Amino acid sequence: MRLVLVGPPGAGKGTQAQYIASNLSIPKISTGDIFRANVSGGTDLGKLAKTYMDRGDLVPDEVTIAMVRDRLSEDDAQDGFLLDGFPRNVAQAEILRDMLKDWGQALDVVLELVVEDDEVVRRLAGRRTCSQCGRIWHVEFDDKKDDRCDACGGALFQRDDDKEETVRHRLEVYQEQTAPLVSYYADEGILVGVDATGPVEEITQRAMEAIQPFMG
Ligand SMILES: [Zn+2]
Repeated sequence: MRLVLVGPPGAGKGTQAQYIASNLSIPKISTGDIFRANVSGGTDLGKLAKTYMDRGDLVPDEVTIAMVRDRLSEDDAQDGFLLDGFPRNVAQAEILRDMLKDWGQALDVVLELVVEDDEVVRRLAGRRTCSQCGRIWHVEFDDKKDDRCDACGGALFQRDDDKEETVRHRLEVYQEQTAPLVSYYADEGILVGVDATGPVEEITQRAMEAIQPFMG
């Protein structure tokens, strides 16, 4: 099965990507992993990407696409894959479609993890990080009443990334980028949405049921 996973920050995408890929016995391919592998492996693409990153610039689309193409050409991805973090926009989705078409392949399904903005804010803005051991606590889910780490006694603080204002901004950026992508796949008839609230195992279960009809 060839699957693309999309979802907002705080939707638990990394965790679900892992469980779903393992349930389907397909490799989980995330752009973050591909980047790290190319850079640490010292490939030509990795070296090229690094020149941009070292300057603090965004890695151009062509470089990302070339890395994705290389990864999808590997043996373990021939019978299926779960893509996480790519495509990010409609232009990339069209390139992916053409790439797969050249190989006589096509995407089977695009799974969207659906979480309300307020729920994302509740999840992320409630996070507190220990300044000493780095452990993350949640004011609500861990019932944290004080601002000390239960593990080491260190002072807890809220990372800038977790501030409500920042989270809301990231959600806006996500919506702007992803809404056209989601409707593109809806038009292709391969989009399925899954409620990503509740226990992790239940979300995985829901996702597996939702993608069942798309299995070849
Ligand atoms: Zn601590």
